[in-house]
Amino acid sequence: MPVGDRLIAPAEALDIILAQVRPLPVETVPLSVAGGRVLAVPFHADQDLPAFAAATMDGFAVVSGDVSPWREIVGDQYAGTVEDIEVTEGTAARIMTGAPLPPGADAVVRVENTELRDDHVIVHQELVFESENVRPIGADLRAGQLLVDAGEVIGPAEIGLLASLGHVDVPVYQRPRVSVLSTGDEVVDPSETPGPGQIRDSNRFSLELAARAAGADVIWSGHAPDDASALRALFQERIAASDALVTSGGVSMGERDLVKGLLAELGTVHFRRLFMKPGKPFNFATVGGTLVFGLPGNPVSALVGFEVFVTAALQTMAGRREPTARPVTVTLEHDVEPTDRLEYQRGVVWSDDHGVLHARNTGSQSSARLLSLVGSNAFVLIPPRAEPYRAGERVQAIVRGVVAGGPPRSGRAGDAD
Ligand code: AMP
Ligand code: MG
Repeated sequence: MPVGDRLIAPAEALDIILAQVRPLPVETVPLSVAGGRVLAVPFHADQDLPAFAAATMDGFAVVSGDVSPWREIVGDQYAGTVEDIEVTEGTAARIMTGAPLPPGADAVVRVENTELRDDHVIVHQELVFESENVRPIGADLRAGQLLVDAGEVIGPAEIGLLASLGHVDVPVYQRPRVSVLSTGDEVVDPSETPGPGQIRDSNRFSLELAARAAGADVIWSGHAPDDASALRALFQERIAASDALVTSGGVSMGERDLVKGLLAELGTVHFRRLFMKPGKPFNFATVGGTLVFGLPGNPVSALVGFEVFVTAALQTMAGRREPTARPVTVTLEHDVEPTDRLEYQRGVVWSDDHGVLHARNTGSQSSARLLSLVGSNAFVLIPPRAEPYRAGERVQAIVRGVVAGGPPRSGRAGDAD
């Protein structure tokens, strides 16, 4: 069989793709734009936090063992300053949440448990424990502790840690520069009214958004007709400018399916067909250092192929260490008719009261029906076999969203076909 015409199992396809992918070089960006990027070096705490013992309640700073019936108020300690106050037995300092504990004090009595008498305070609390309502030095993190590892995405908590330790310049991996190209004579811009036999371009928008979600910088997107020389020129230009080129259409068996031949002409084609439904035609090629993904034209085939393979490649380029999710075991809630390939059914997975995961598909699984992806949080994997799958059988699923408790609420999900 000529190179690339074998039907490749999805797991093998992913291995072939990832073998061609390296993380991009590192750049330093300001903290304000580091969110969503992937940290390039492990990040350790260079100090204890909090750096000083602080009150966690508004109240009075006291000596914990002190049993005086009332205490003289020797000063006020607000957050953000250090007052020249010392607390001893028989005295207390008024203190606010976040303020440093004055010398001598080792506990805070919350204001609700106190009563003021002139310049004295009465503590209505039998025992005051050491460190009560005090956040000690190093309670949140210790100097030397690993906070965020290289290869992890900088999210809201991670960026907060970077900020709290004063890291205003952050080393991150460069984002992959991606071009997205729709092909096909029948495809028109969404702003146009399609003529006879024409359709609006949906893939360009779906794939752009999916690329951004994977951490890529979409530097260009456009459309080209099924014309060999126009496609060749555009391919050469976009490949030279991009880390990855993602195209849709033109990879099937038709006479005007020109992308396939063009990739063989320009670079190395690693495979052309997947043992997978949707999305059997899937061309993966490398041209110089650029990855080219020739996805099929059908919108669901293109998007599923993107999510399963291209996302993992882009995330790896962007520095992510674990770009793929592990499947989970789910119980089918309805019968499923298998096909001749491993099917990625778009479905909803949810958890019951016992933590058992259940799955339904999202109705018709036609490769053009984008609605099958709307509201779906998982790909339910249906391997080929002779007899149908029955409700109650267990299969694998790749969860791609949040798993909620209870069955899907949307009327759309669950119209089993
Ligand atoms: P192809 O892979 O080029 O044979 O296209 C397969 C199917 O996908 C055809 O019905 C096309 O009209 C449709 N298609 C191709 N490109 C797009 C696109 N950019 N947006 C929506 N549908 C498309
Ligand atoms: Mg086409």
